[in-house]
Amino acid sequence: MTHFTRDSLARLDQDDALSSFREQFDLEPGLIYLNGNSLGVLPKAAKARVAEVVEQEWGRGLIRSWNTHDWISLPERVGDKLATLIGAEAGEVVVADSTSVNLFKLAAAAVRMRPGRSKIVSEPGNFPTDLYILQGLEGFLEGEVRLETAPREQLKEIIDEDTALVVLTHVHYKSGKMFDMAALTDRAHEVGALILWDLSHSAGAVPVELNAVQADFAVGCGYKYLNGGPGAPGFLFVAKRHQAEFRQPLSGWFGHANPFAMSDVYEPAAGIKRGLCGTTGVLAASVLEVGVDIMASADMEAIRTKSRQLGDIFIELVEQHCAGYGFTLVSPRDESLRGSQVSLAHEQGFAIMQALIARNIIGDFRAPDILRFGFTPLYTRYVDLWDMVQALAEIMAREEWNRREFKKKLAVT
Ligand SMILES: *Cc1c(COP(=O)(O)O)cnc(C)c1O
Repeated sequence: MTHFTRDSLARLDQDDALSSFREQFDLEPGLIYLNGNSLGVLPKAAKARVAEVVEQEWGRGLIRSWNTHDWISLPERVGDKLATLIGAEAGEVVVADSTSVNLFKLAAAAVRMRPGRSKIVSEPGNFPTDLYILQGLEGFLEGEVRLETAPREQLKEIIDEDTALVVLTHVHYKSGKMFDMAALTDRAHEVGALILWDLSHSAGAVPVELNAVQADFAVGCGYKYLNGGPGAPGFLFVAKRHQAEFRQPLSGWFGHANPFAMSDVYEPAAGIKRGLCGTTGVLAASVLEVGVDIMASADMEAIRTKSRQLGDIFIELVEQHCAGYGFTLVSPRDESLRGSQVSLAHEQGFAIMQALIARNIIGDFRAPDILRFGFTPLYTRYVDLWDMVQALAEIMAREEWNRREFKKKLAVT
């Protein structure tokens, strides 16, 4: 065990090759933000970009801007940039809709590509919307497909010749546990099934190589590690080899081969554009582009190295300074199995998180008892970990969490 001090951590910040990125984000002085895995912080450039899109492109350009500012290719332009972060090629990713809607589009298309097979496989405790969407699809295709879940140790066994599609979240939202994407993709393919990866907690957080592992489909979130802003569009990936066969059910005009021919008959666009449905949210997609640009200018290996180190140091600090207060580590200790977050369980988790937030230290709480801390190497500093753990130790030593105001339930946690 290394005994860190605030000074030794400050030295790591000084030597950090990524430290200059922090200036690109609008962080309030004194705030320690460990929740970029839920809502990324505001890139300073996003403010100017919003003003430009609103005042010039919309305000002055009006309808002309679909052409003059190329709004029409925004989903593909941002998608191509995002592709570089997840090991995909240009022409394999678009940004559109929400992660939930994209999941429906891709899962429905995928089961149609495996007629005669009746199973969609996932795991219990997957992110709720993923299971809800699959349940919705199951209801919609009643009698044709059913959702079957099994804990991750047994997943390989339930993926069988009757499986059309496997839907898994690469980095688990609560525990931060990371799947072996290559091994599960291989297992799905071994029995002729397709696989769809949810990259909501991976894109911009950990290196992902969709094409190297031969993944079929993927979706993910724009407002988490990509810093695309609240409710930013999600993204979808369809491997080139599947695009000709890929037909998704939300066949809106933006996915048409020639939307402005105003034909009565739907004909899907060639390539990834057929993944689109309706009109692009131009403001939101333009802001997402700013976040993606920043992420694409950083070295993903450097991000991963720092993220692993932040997690390791955080765990050590908690064990050294908060021993005996009843925390248990929920995330894997082995950094190679962990995404860019560390979760702790505590029966007073909700109140403890409220006490931290009152001190301007923001993580989040996930029912029933999980305190989640996300590390975003572009703006999280090593000293933030020290300050956060000292605050946590004080909150526990003084039982600060035990105040009535920290126990009031909130609509969003
Ligand atoms: C955050 C998250 C989502 C979010 O879906 P929305 O449609 O944007 O609300 C979906 N899946 C996973 C795994 C997530 O972590």
